[in-house]
Amino acid sequence: MARIPDDQIERLKQEVSLQRLAEGMGITLKRHGADLIGLCPFHDDHEPSLVISPKNNLWHCLGACQAGGSVIDWVMKVEGVSFRHAVELLQADYQPLAADPVKRSTVQKLPTTLETSAEDARLLVQVIDYYRETLKQSPEALAYLERRGIANIE
Ligand SMILES: [Zn+2]
Repeated sequence: MARIPDDQIERLKQEVSLQRLAEGMGITLKRHGADLIGLCPFHDDHEPSLVISPKNNLWHCLGACQAGGSVIDWVMKVEGVSFRHAVELLQADYQPLAADPVKRSTVQKLPTTLETSAEDARLLVQVIDYYRETLKQSPEALAYLERRGIANIE
């Protein structure tokens, strides 16, 4: 395997915006002096401990990870790939997949949503049953439906 030229690596480190990669993963970054801070995607972060320095395009996690580096280190950690693979991904116009934080919140919300809609569905069935029974007890309504050709309410 040919070695990746250093100037190519340097160019990726300069040209691929860490801020864009992080925001592409759904990480909200807030300005903090010259830096940007946000929730670290690499550990269960509740206090923003991810620091991105747009000036030199470097990141650092001040929390549990105690790790950091360039866009290449970032992609290695996000994708779980080797240095060389990360460089290749970046050269191929790497786009981050939607984020861990987003996935986490979807997983948490989903069961609640399902329960609510199941409840709604049950309620709707009860309402329909009620109207069907009421309708069947009304000769006028049945006659009307028959005239309209929609009397099939069994
Ligand atoms: Zn971290």
